[in-house]
Amino acid sequence: MALVTMGPMLKRARTKGYGIAAYNMIDYNSARAIVEGACALDAPIIVQVSVKTVKHWGYKPIALWVRELSASVDIPVALHLDHCTDLDVLRRCVDAGWTSVMFDGSSLPFAENLEKSLKAYEMTQEARVGLEAEIGAIGGVEDDKHINEDDARLANFDECVRFVRDMPNLAVFAPAIGTAHGVYKGEAKIAYDLLERITNAIDIPIALHGGTGLTEQQFHRCIAGGCAKVNISTMHKILFINSFVALKQEKPKLEEPLAFIARQNEEMKEDVMTVIGVLGSSGKAGDALQSIIAGK
Ligand SMILES: [Zn+2]
Repeated sequence: MALVTMGPMLKRARTKGYGIAAYNMIDYNSARAIVEGACALDAPIIVQVSVKTVKHWGYKPIALWVRELSASVDIPVALHLDHCTDLDVLRRCVDAGWTSVMFDGSSLPFAENLEKSLKAYEMTQEARVGLEAEIGAIGGVEDDKHINEDDARLANFDECVRFVRDMPNLAVFAPAIGTAHGVYKGEAKIAYDLLERITNAIDIPIALHGGTGLTEQQFHRCIAGGCAKVNISTMHKILFINSFVALKQEKPKLEEPLAFIARQNEEMKEDVMTVIGVLGSSGKAGDALQSIIAGK
């Protein structure tokens, strides 16, 4: 089926209490593993792309790959741009066929973040593309952005309310609640109380960034607290490389590239399926589709 926008299905996921996985693709093979993993479990899925990856492959190839993958399955697939700080890049993705985008103005002062997010909001509303925006500073490394532990900043509750009031139709909102990008050193310290306050005040699904390394219990608590979009990137990157290395170590004489690509696909797909199982979105493709048809 055609690519879908993520807003209605995330709203439905929040209402029904499950999470939709948003996996960062690296290339065609990884995008295929993401869609195939979701398809095997009849789950809705978000394929997301970092700005760095978009610039590496180009706008059109990525849009074409994911559109083709989506066309061959019956589950809802959204193509999302992750952590974009540049409105021109965002515009080009919208023009190339992305169905949802994130504008990340979190490193800007509040007023400037709001102003630029509103520009992104206008752009996406016109094109009927879903928008994600961020408040606070999510720690760790994402693309070329490095935020160390000391600079990571939880979202300010009042700012969250003001921000969302001006963008009533945000598809998903990403307040920093203590999770971080990359690999956690200890257990992630999630500010559940803040998540609860935000969820009670704002009727918009929440995005959980830094999903790699969270425990099953943490996922469940965050989903129960209003998180509907669950981002996974680091684990996918680790498997992308380690699957190649492991196969070469097992069979040093193997030189057929397709065997490595098949192994990579298999391992990434398995991870996607495990995560979908934990998030509770197995078998929810039909439910998500109904929300899209209903437009809410
Ligand atoms: Zn993120």
